[in-house]
Amino acid sequence: MRAVTFQAPGEVAIEEKADPELRAADEAIVRVEASGICGSDLHIFHGRVPVEPGFTIGHEFVGTVLAAGEDVERVAVGDRVLGCFHTACATCSSCLRGDYHRCRTGQTFGHGSKLGNLQGAQAELLAVPRANLTLRRVPEGMSAEVALFAGDVMGTGYHAIAHAGMRSGDTVAVLGLGPVGLCAVQAALAGGAVEVFAIDTVPQRLAMAASFGATPLHLNEDEPKKAVRVATEGLGVDVVVDAVGDPGPLAMAISLARDAGTVSGIGAYAGRGEVPLGLAWLKGLQLRLGLANVIAHVDRVLALMVAGKLDPAPLVTHHMKLDQAAEAYVLYDQREALKIVLTP
Ligand SMILES: [Zn+2]
Ligand SMILES: [Zn+2]
Repeated sequence: MRAVTFQAPGEVAIEEKADPELRAADEAIVRVEASGICGSDLHIFHGRVPVEPGFTIGHEFVGTVLAAGEDVERVAVGDRVLGCFHTACATCSSCLRGDYHRCRTGQTFGHGSKLGNLQGAQAELLAVPRANLTLRRVPEGMSAEVALFAGDVMGTGYHAIAHAGMRSGDTVAVLGLGPVGLCAVQAALAGGAVEVFAIDTVPQRLAMAASFGATPLHLNEDEPKKAVRVATEGLGVDVVVDAVGDPGPLAMAISLARDAGTVSGIGAYAGRGEVPLGLAWLKGLQLRLGLANVIAHVDRVLALMVAGKLDPAPLVTHHMKLDQAAEAYVLYDQREALKIVLTP
């Protein structure tokens, strides 16, 4: 089979590899129909997340079950399925609390030996451990490029809102309108937010957020802090999502939140940074951080997608072949594409 592998910072390749085989009773083999290139793949591409040369990358996928071990009960050979970006065991202390994203033996697809040593989904075939939890049937009539969002990007946008405890009638601000931020905008509106302020610097992304029903605010041209203050009678918003993952946006999120509001940091923070903790304390804010618990959300996210309340289709800007992966990564790195879907 062909697979997209990391080679060196700035370099991916298409390699011919041995077909994966079933190694466990709860595993499935999937023939991949479509896979996505994600912002977190760029961390690997740049070498910020260390992955061994020759390791297959990618973690968003839709495909058909080719083989399944005897303990796989929730999907069967021939089923069209989508995957969550990581696996979970269902029996460790984290999983028993429903915190699948903190599973003590969880593995992330396509992130090298440090994150579970699980070969990735930008390939023709994929071995899927813990298939009962990792896979879901694709709802009737849903396209592959839409379905693959449920187990990663849309699940993450949804988590940013759900984890914040947003209620119907709340006001929301989303900082950073990459795919996750745009999905968070949709999730907030689907959850009954009365106004969603969408903040970024890229005009096309602001326009897309506006087309979903958000109020777009250009970071540098619209004075978002002032605009939010005026629109909320000086109170600030109930929920702020930082979909960037840097101290700067987190500081801004703290300033945009109302007293006793919630800041939901879904972007990937790294290292140390300065944020106005005094202001956060004074306001009595809740900070909710961390990776998305997509396995806990995937069924609700799919239900909302079937109902048309969440629709990632406009986010897919590029369709490319697996063989064009090297070109696709360069394109994605240049921020020319919002979402690239690869097909074999
Ligand atoms: Zn992803
Ligand atoms: Zn577990």
